[in-house]
Amino acid sequence: MDNKMRTFFLMAVSVLCFFYSAPAFAALRVVTTTEDLAALTKEIGGDEVRVKTLTRGYQDAHHIAAKPSYMLRLNRADLLIYQGMELEVGWLPLLIQGARNPNVMVGQPGHLNASAVIEPIEIPQMLDRSMGDIHPFGNPHYLLDPVNGIHVARLIKDRLTQLVPDKKNFFQKGFEEFAQRLNAKILDWGRRMELLNGLKVTAYHRSWSYLFRRFGIQYIALIELVPGIPPTPKHLARVVHAMKTEKAKLIIQANYYESRSAKFLAEKTGGHILSLPVSVGGVDEVKTYIGLFDYIVSHLERESK
Ligand SMILES: [Zn+2]
Repeated sequence: MDNKMRTFFLMAVSVLCFFYSAPAFAALRVVTTTEDLAALTKEIGGDEVRVKTLTRGYQDAHHIAAKPSYMLRLNRADLLIYQGMELEVGWLPLLIQGARNPNVMVGQPGHLNASAVIEPIEIPQMLDRSMGDIHPFGNPHYLLDPVNGIHVARLIKDRLTQLVPDKKNFFQKGFEEFAQRLNAKILDWGRRMELLNGLKVTAYHRSWSYLFRRFGIQYIALIELVPGIPPTPKHLARVVHAMKTEKAKLIIQANYYESRSAKFLAEKTGGHILSLPVSVGGVDEVKTYIGLFDYIVSHLERESK
């Protein structure tokens, strides 16, 4: 090889190396456990992040069968964001272990438990795991309070900034714009939900606790026996009794639960079922975090007429 050829060859190799290594300089690779967290991350990170979610909004994040493809996704991540409070305890720790990615290990900047900024509700006074209790540290469905969405968005903004300090202003602007839009919406939803203040409902699972607290809605009964355990006939009979006593006819449930029990209750009490998404992606139309509440509020609103 003459010198000219050698220079050309070396240049070609360096160009190839540059393109091959380009992803290292490209967008931050974020993996989230839920579509809600993915949606919040995209609001703040824009084109500076490439976000993948492990579960979809139409799945119950308590019960996910971890696939090898999840491990691969996690293996290549710069940042893992999860809801915590044991929502993903059945499958996420195993994935983190199997992913062999030091970035996302506990204690690393690439490991973010979003519940760190949440004031949990419904912390059990006595925990009985033999009864299958899946909310040992309180209710993990906190993103159904849009105010918590702002807290978590701020946390994500801070962590993205820590990982990509050059983009500090970009993330700050993304957060501020999002918080402003969301705050305006929270006022709007609050006004529209005023008519529902005091509404009494039966729900399948305590998926709605943060939303109900925000808008003054009450559970009168739960279809499942305890969090994570399906109802027995005896329990359903108690729910029928409670619904009749309270003259409460509305049954709300996340659209991924079995509907047989709810149908049985509706039949026995003359009630009706409202099946709603609990997350972004829970139904096709809901593609953003704000869109999720627009959908839920517009469906609940009809109950006041
Ligand atoms: Zn739950």
